[in-house]
Amino acid sequence: MKTNNLGYPRIGSNRELKKASESYWAGSISVDALLNVGKNIRKENWQLQANAGIDLIPSNDFSFYDQVLDLTLTLGAFPNRYREIAKTNSALDLYFAMARGAQKEGQDVVAMEMTKWFDTNYHYIVPEFTKNQQFELFSTKIIDEFIEAKKLGFTTKPVLISPVSYLLLGKEKEEGFHRIELIEKVLPVYFEILNTLQNEGAEYIQFDEPFLALNLTDAVHNAITFVYNEINKKFPNLKIILTNYFDCFGENLDTVLALPVHTLHLDLVRCSSQLDDILESGKLAANVSLSLGVVDGRNIWKNDFKKSLALIKKATDAIGKDRVLIAPSCSLIHSPCDLDLESNEATLPNEIKQWLAFAKQKTEEIVLLQNFAIEEISLVDTVAFQENTIANESRKTSKLIHNDDVKNRVASIAIGDDKRQNPFAIRRHKQIAALKLPLFPTTTIGSFPQTTEVRSWRAKFKKGELNPEQYDALLEKETEETIRFQEETGIDVLVHGEFERNDMVEYFGEQLDGFAFTKNGWVQSYGSRCVKPPVIYGDVYRPNPMTVKWASFAQSLTPKWVKGMLTGPVTILQWSFVRNDQPRSETCTQIALAIRDEVVDLEKVGIKIIQIDEPAIREGLPLRKEEWANYLDWAIKAFRISASGVKDDTQIHTHMCYSEFNDIIQNIADMDADVITIECSRSQMELLDVFADFKYPNEIGPGVYDIHSPRVPSRKEMVQLLEKASAVVPIDQLWVNPDCGLKTRHWEETKKALIEMVAAAKEMRVAI
Ligand code: GLN
Ligand code: ZN
Repeated sequence: MKTNNLGYPRIGSNRELKKASESYWAGSISVDALLNVGKNIRKENWQLQANAGIDLIPSNDFSFYDQVLDLTLTLGAFPNRYREIAKTNSALDLYFAMARGAQKEGQDVVAMEMTKWFDTNYHYIVPEFTKNQQFELFSTKIIDEFIEAKKLGFTTKPVLISPVSYLLLGKEKEEGFHRIELIEKVLPVYFEILNTLQNEGAEYIQFDEPFLALNLTDAVHNAITFVYNEINKKFPNLKIILTNYFDCFGENLDTVLALPVHTLHLDLVRCSSQLDDILESGKLAANVSLSLGVVDGRNIWKNDFKKSLALIKKATDAIGKDRVLIAPSCSLIHSPCDLDLESNEATLPNEIKQWLAFAKQKTEEIVLLQNFAIEEISLVDTVAFQENTIANESRKTSKLIHNDDVKNRVASIAIGDDKRQNPFAIRRHKQIAALKLPLFPTTTIGSFPQTTEVRSWRAKFKKGELNPEQYDALLEKETEETIRFQEETGIDVLVHGEFERNDMVEYFGEQLDGFAFTKNGWVQSYGSRCVKPPVIYGDVYRPNPMTVKWASFAQSLTPKWVKGMLTGPVTILQWSFVRNDQPRSETCTQIALAIRDEVVDLEKVGIKIIQIDEPAIREGLPLRKEEWANYLDWAIKAFRISASGVKDDTQIHTHMCYSEFNDIIQNIADMDADVITIECSRSQMELLDVFADFKYPNEIGPGVYDIHSPRVPSRKEMVQLLEKASAVVPIDQLWVNPDCGLKTRHWEETKKALIEMVAAAKEMRVAI
């Protein structure tokens, strides 16, 4: 029985890679210095896993930016616009140009597109394919890293995204073909790689095939069958570990069970039932092993050894110990590095800390599970097993976690609690009478520039260099100036600017019971960007109002409406590490009730317009379509619970960015927000068509300019976009606003852009 790790975090336990990459990009360290940091991280990771006792230690799981982009470079599949750069730059600079774009002496290329890796918050660089796409072995990274490890004394298991998943991850940049048709062209380069690896002494190869967790076409099934048979013909001695994660094999199982591979890896955290499916199918070939992903790579909870050992036993009883490997559910790049580095009792109490395991601890858990499973020693006698049991038992009953009031409140949610008092058509009349807004009302999405100064106040406040009164006074001044600016500019619905917020989830989490925060629990989001998701460990409860003070302060400054600003329950859930001891839906409902109370409190102090941001609704969609309905059901309901405590004439807004609404427009409509603001400008209002075709009944603010760029849009451009919008949506349903919050922008361009935006709205009003 072997232990099999699928991938280890490559950011370094103190984000060394982030710091080094950013210094390199800024020109302050040499390429050798950067390469050295990478080398050290790889060495430390290999050493750490070897020390822990991992048998199959991955290599090529390291990346300077993204593993998909690594493969694009490996396969020489870079788009034509980088040819010039390829001629005059090192491979590493070419690589960074593809990741980030490049603008220097006479060079100006945009970056490749980035998108989310399945249902994670990791973003990969999307490969681009043309009909005559050529592939060649361009970078030997995978081979170099194998040799590098070998020299250090580790015979690693190279990790490679399979050619099928690689092609599926990409996009066609030309009409007239499907990218999966490129399979025969790309396969020879894989052969070349495998051949070299084999000659260098590689025994196992991990082929990541994450698309097996999705619904696939026949063409893809055929490609999968073709690829693994070809590989087996050419390399009968290489042990191929076909690796799927994030969900079941589902209806792909028959195809998978017929493949000539050495091992199948199963994510038993996301889908424990597939072990039974496989064992009971009678179709598992006698020479195929199973890698059991029992340790959760996507969450931070300590493993439940009893539960894992039961699964392992089921497998060993059926196929024998020799054919079983113990593994994390997926690569550990989705976990923070090391729990031992957490030392802040105030935000992560020891009682909670004992329930957690980060990548390093998960590695140890995998080895312990293997030891327990092989040795059949009396488990209860081992300290490690006892500790695990005690921690998990204490979590089940801890007072920190369980709040009966919250549980009772969730249980007594009544039919109708997720509905506004009256349908939109009736609310609308009351809102028109109460709010008296012009046609094409103007607003913003919430945040105004978070300048270095504003951030420095927060840092000083946290260090105790500013007392609460001093900190508040500074924020009040900033808020007041922002209100005055909006009044002078003639914006109709104002916001307070969100200067008091560090992050749209953390700010709420810090004020809610049931949330803990790590000091160093960073996870790579993309390139050098890392996020530190809060840990939702217990029943969520709102002890005090969270935003009322700032909203009412802002409202007291002006006779115009100030919009209250909240983050929605699904987004808070989605961007946190969540409990695994109850369904996500339950946690989400608890958050929804907390937000509902906040909405009601805002209304009580006279806030008539309240925005509940839900940018993460779409990314929460399960990978398999058959699970969508269930998710959408509870997610949309949670939003409605949060929004439905108010009177008809209080106007609820929601905001969503980065969203494609095609498949879910009915559900978006079911949210029944009075106004939805969406990201639209980069798509030239194309995103709005879905709403138009659907005849979306409520009001919509399609973003009229892109806040991700410092560029100031012209009035004319925005008028044109508004005209486009007016052509498809009745004008009395339209709002005028930027794409998203302005927090990453500077004041200079923000002011100019908003002045032009208001002028554009006025032009539209005159035109009718
Ligand atoms: N209200 C938030 C802001 O303006 C919304 C951010 C978001 O949609 N991601 O910053
Ligand atoms: Zn947004």
